[in-house]
Amino acid sequence: LAKAGGRNCARLFDPTDPQSSDESENLAALLKIAIGQDLVSLVYQPIKDVASGRLEAVEALMRLKMLDGTLVPPSLFIPVAERTGSILELGRWAIRTVCAELLAGDHVRLVSVNVSPIQLKTPGFAASVATILGETGVTGNRLAFEITEGLEMEMHSDILRCISDLKLLGIKIWLDDFGTGFAGLSWLRLIDFDTVKIDRSFLHDCATPNGKAMLQDIIALVRNRGHKILVEGVETEEQMALMREFGIDKVQGFHVGRPVPAANLQAKRAVQRRPFTVLKSA
Ligand code: C2E
Ligand code: MG
Ligand code: MG
Ligand code: MG
Repeated sequence: LAKAGGRNCARLFDPTDPQSSDESENLAALLKIAIGQDLVSLVYQPIKDVASGRLEAVEALMRLKMLDGTLVPPSLFIPVAERTGSILELGRWAIRTVCAELLAGDHVRLVSVNVSPIQLKTPGFAASVATILGETGVTGNRLAFEITEGLEMEMHSDILRCISDLKLLGIKIWLDDFGTGFAGLSWLRLIDFDTVKIDRSFLHDCATPNGKAMLQDIIALVRNRGHKILVEGVETEEQMALMREFGIDKVQGFHVGRPVPAANLQAKRAVQRRPFTVLKSA
């Protein structure tokens, strides 16, 4: 396996390379044993409320190690997990872990979890979430599920039904990576998202007048439809200033904080008086 630049990440396979299918199969096998072998974990990235500067929520992001400890990026293993069905078990594990390791305490009010359309389409998914909530004693209003504009985007009545069941549990539904495909607009028509996360590619472009105008148009579209707006990928103070100027509700990105394990999140809160201490268990 070839190592890719500096980050202790493996380049497992290139889907366009016919020789790579073996490595994709290796990854599929690894995913089957990952939970039992303690190879998966969650890290949490802060989401800040722009107006108050408070920690509004954290997003749970999955991490996978190979047996030698090398990290595999989610952009590689999530598509394989979706193709092989492992995403169902991994997804349940993630929700249970979020409830047990984070929401059981009161230092974070809201956690957003990425949920694949494959999970939403699977009969009994909402019921399995209800079971996890019951077993961990966590109320649904402390969870948000992020749905991405992905490949599995054809509108499915099962998905819409599942989403309304999740809402009945009090779980917020967010649209992730908005603006990266055409499907997002169809989703917006059909689902009343609490929050829309605008993909970080729009921030990259907004150094140019054209890119800035584009971002403003997207913000207006989302806002006029009554959704709260989160911009992803805020990396600099200049971008942060722009977010204040645009009246963005929530921000996430390396400027706000990098993803960290649950233990670091608690430690950070104890050390940094702002913005973490203003958090009360609301
Ligand atoms: P996402 O849900 O859009 O998550 C945001 C990604 O952007 C994360 O990458 C995060 O580390 C990265 N990021 C955050 N702030 C910045 C920034 O300021 N600059 C840059 N360059 N990047 C930033 P990560 O953790 O590699 O996750 C990639 C994608 O994998 C996620 O995108 C999500 O679609 C998927 N994913 C991760 N965990 C899960 C999971 O538990 N379940 C599912 N179904 N998908 C997941
Ligand atoms: Mg996400
Ligand atoms: Mg995103
Ligand atoms: Mg994204």
